[in-house]
Amino acid sequence: MAHLIQPATTARSKCRGCGERIAAGALRFGEVVPNPFAEGDATQWFHVACGAHKRPEPFLEALSGASEPVPDAESLSAVAQGGVAHPRLARIDGAEHDPSGRATCRHCKTRIEKGAWRIRLVYYEDGRFQPSGAVHVPCARAYFEADDVLPRVRHFAPALAEADLKEIETLLAPAT
Ligand SMILES: [Zn+2]
Ligand SMILES: [Zn+2]
Repeated sequence: MAHLIQPATTARSKCRGCGERIAAGALRFGEVVPNPFAEGDATQWFHVACGAHKRPEPFLEALSGASEPVPDAESLSAVAQGGVAHPRLARIDGAEHDPSGRATCRHCKTRIEKGAWRIRLVYYEDGRFQPSGAVHVPCARAYFEADDVLPRVRHFAPALAEADLKEIETLLAPAT
C-alpha cells in the first residue's frame, strides 16, 4: 500500500511526530509500514507538517500521489526536500533548557551545562522514534549541516515564547 494524505475521519489518531491528537477533518499523512505485531501493513499517522519535517521521503511520495490538492503543498514540499538534502534535520524534536547537566552534545562531545539551551534529537528506527540525546544550540548548524534550524525547532517546541526563540536564534552560529 502506498503512503497517503487524507482527512482524518475521527479525532482519535495521534501524531507520531509531535504526540498531539489530529483533529477530525484535518489533513493527515499516513506512512504505511510493515506491521511489527502481525502480518501485513500498519499505517502511522502524522499531521502533514510533522510528516514533512520528520519523515521527508515517504511524505514526498504521499504528496506526489495525493488525489486532491494539499494546502501549502509548496512549503511542505520545501521542508521535506530540506530533510532529504540534510537528513539530520529530520531528527530535530524541539529545544529546551538542559534539565540535568549530564548530557553530552552529539556534535562536540562535551557536556551540556545545566540550564543551557539544547536541541533535542530523535532517531527513527524500525518504525519508531527513539529519544536520542541533544546538541548545544551553537553546535546545531554544524551538526545538522544546514542553516534552517530555527523553524524546525519552533515547529516541535510550540510552547517556547518569542523571547526564547530570539535567544536560540542568537546562539545559532552560522554553518561552516
Ligand atoms: Zn504532529
Ligand atoms: Zn556541542
